[in-house]
Amino acid sequence: MTQRPIVIVGAGHSGAKASAALRKHGWTGPIALIGDETHVPYDRPPLSKAVLLGTKTSDQCAFFPAAWYLDKGIDLLLEKRVACIDRVEDRVAFEDGDDLRYHRLLLATGSSLNALSVPGADLEGVWPLRTPRHADAIAASLRPGARLVVIGAGVIGLEVAAAAVERGCVVHVLEVAPTAMGRSLPETISTDLIEEHRRRGVDVRFSARVAALEGDKKVSRAHLETGESLDCDLVVYGVGVKPRTELAKAAGLRVDAGILADGLLQTEDAKIFACGDVCQYESRLFERHLRLENWRNAEDQADAAARNMLGQQTTFDAVPWFWSNQYDLTLQVAGMPALGGLTIVRKVGSSRLYLSAGRDGRLWAASGLGSVRDIAAPIRQLKEAIAARRLVNIAAMSDQNTLFELLA
Ligand code: FAD
Repeated sequence: MTQRPIVIVGAGHSGAKASAALRKHGWTGPIALIGDETHVPYDRPPLSKAVLLGTKTSDQCAFFPAAWYLDKGIDLLLEKRVACIDRVEDRVAFEDGDDLRYHRLLLATGSSLNALSVPGADLEGVWPLRTPRHADAIAASLRPGARLVVIGAGVIGLEVAAAAVERGCVVHVLEVAPTAMGRSLPETISTDLIEEHRRRGVDVRFSARVAALEGDKKVSRAHLETGESLDCDLVVYGVGVKPRTELAKAAGLRVDAGILADGLLQTEDAKIFACGDVCQYESRLFERHLRLENWRNAEDQADAAARNMLGQQTTFDAVPWFWSNQYDLTLQVAGMPALGGLTIVRKVGSSRLYLSAGRDGRLWAASGLGSVRDIAAPIRQLKEAIAARRLVNIAAMSDQNTLFELLA
């Protein structure tokens, strides 16, 4: 009997890295990496940074060239969508009628974009940002003097705003919530970050809801619910993503905010694993299930899932970490800021560090905004302190000179 492949659904970041990790950790059997996009798996972060700034092209973002998959004996099947999973037969069925039986199955289906649901959202010149096609179209429109409306002050919206300012555009950012990046940052950091945008001329408005977009074929105006309107040449929206859990759900796997998995990234079906944006795994460190949407998580979970599909018992319990680049500033966030009620701010060089602690002193997160040179090393150390469940010395908090002395 021929050996069944390890099948990976989702040829994105986590899927591609899991295929590489399977080979690295000794799997010599077949691997099928299945994706519904047209491109070989690519890295998304440069799409909202270097590609918009014109320092990289979108086709330079591939993780590996197509020949690499051939060389590694990985069957990369593109423009193919998995329609359903048959857990009795251990089989995935494709939308085009083909099917494939699996030895192990990894669900790395990522997230899909939330739609912008306002009249005029289908006009030309209105873009989300997730794929090379989106990035190329937006980059081509960022000409000096172009007027850009960004809907949503999340990480992608703010990166687009920063790149557009650097390319000489006039930028408005409209956010329906009262703060920026509300889900992932404490208010103190988002206030500092928005101040940096305003200092560079971005018109950032909170509690600002777009009522409609208008234009003759192409967008030319954004109407706000207040009755005000803004002339524009381009609209980019970043209004969140949702995990692509539909396959797992239809297969009867447990799904909550993502596909539920244990610390081994294994679902309740011992042959099926999940990783990346779609995976909601059990974190002992944070005493809850977490679903993360960031690059480091996609990278590290891919490795852990690959090991565990090969029978290792590698518990994944990393401290979450993400970064964003806006202008010459880097933002780094380690841990879970939302869990800490107290935010302590410290200056390091020309940058700032923010510690998020609980009332009991537990350090839940550490963030930095400024230059990589100032913040990278302390964030690394503070990340270790979070992993070690260190407490913060609340009594030392008012002393501006302390940072690591804060850790009890
Ligand atoms: P994806 O990379 O989205 O891969 C999932 C793949 O599965 C997709 O190709 C999808 O089409 C495919 N798929 C889904 N369902 C099926 C199916 N049924 N059949 C076949 N294929 C299917 N993170 C950071 O930490 N820092 C950053 O600066 C940063 N910048 C970013 C900038 C942009 C523009 C974007 C979009 C994301 C950014 N991220 C950043 C987030 C990071 O890129 C994601 O968290 C990461 O890509 C998630 O990887 P993934 O493999 O889970 O999902």
